[in-house]
Amino acid sequence: MAQHFLLSAASRTLSLKAIYKGGEVAAYETFCKMRWPETDGEAICPQCGCVETYKITTRRKFKCKACAHQFSVTSGTIFASRKMDFVDLLAAICIIVNAAKGVSMVQLSRDLDCQYKTAFVLAHKLREAMAQEVQTGEVLTGHVEIDGAYFGGHIRPENKKADRKDRRLKVNQTGKRRVVIALREREGRTLPFVALSEAEGVALASENVCRLATMSADEASHWDMLHAAWEVDRVNHSELYSDHGKHTNWAESYFSRLRRMVSGQHHHVSPQYLYQYANHAAWLEDSRRFDNGELAHRLVANSMGAPVSRNWKGYWQRAA
Ligand SMILES: [Zn+2]
Repeated sequence: MAQHFLLSAASRTLSLKAIYKGGEVAAYETFCKMRWPETDGEAICPQCGCVETYKITTRRKFKCKACAHQFSVTSGTIFASRKMDFVDLLAAICIIVNAAKGVSMVQLSRDLDCQYKTAFVLAHKLREAMAQEVQTGEVLTGHVEIDGAYFGGHIRPENKKADRKDRRLKVNQTGKRRVVIALREREGRTLPFVALSEAEGVALASENVCRLATMSADEASHWDMLHAAWEVDRVNHSELYSDHGKHTNWAESYFSRLRRMVSGQHHHVSPQYLYQYANHAAWLEDSRRFDNGELAHRLVANSMGAPVSRNWKGYWQRAA
């Protein structure tokens, strides 16, 4: 039998050992090369595009010869105003891409010996970088499955049975429950959204699925609307999960990963950040066949291309 990809040596091309052996200088060079791939790591002024710079080596900064603008390798990127060493940043990225179901922020803070807050914000910034590859704005084509799964808003039952409330009733709910709606191409991209009800998926499909695509959905009645615009396969999950190619198993396997991420690592996710975890799981799902070196490479490259985070810059200063 063929060896599973994730068990093969080919899937392991990056390790913490190698990152720390290379040290801070090598990690810094990695970031420079990812930021300025066109010049193989030679600085380019973000203000005027000039490639002639003075190196202020003691502070790891550059000064543009043309416009005198001072900048660093992370200026204007998701890592702007970072305080962590580059080697630790690279290690954090390695830990995060190695975790197939995500990694808890407490665990990351222990691994890196940094504050919980630092790990929390760093991981969320990296999720924003991942989201750039997930939420591309391009429509899905081919065979597209749609499904929804509910997360959050758990209500702990009372101790005594007599005191327990009917948790299905709206008055007894917390209002924190959200549904993740996944649109997933078979053998292709996964596109998640967070909504209040699964029926909103119809509108999301019209925005994000090519009219020539075939769709698959389960028996839920709100998906009947899809038939107006697409050829739709339906499968009744109360009877069977797969009926001769009619199934939503690609969407289900995405939810499987997201469920394990939420219940196994994060335990609690707030409704306003659920989309971040949904994008993270979609990114992991779509890149499951890449080796971990490739994954880390893509994540750093994306981060260097991603703008300063509006949500996460100065997060704790604001929250405090
Ligand atoms: Zn300049």
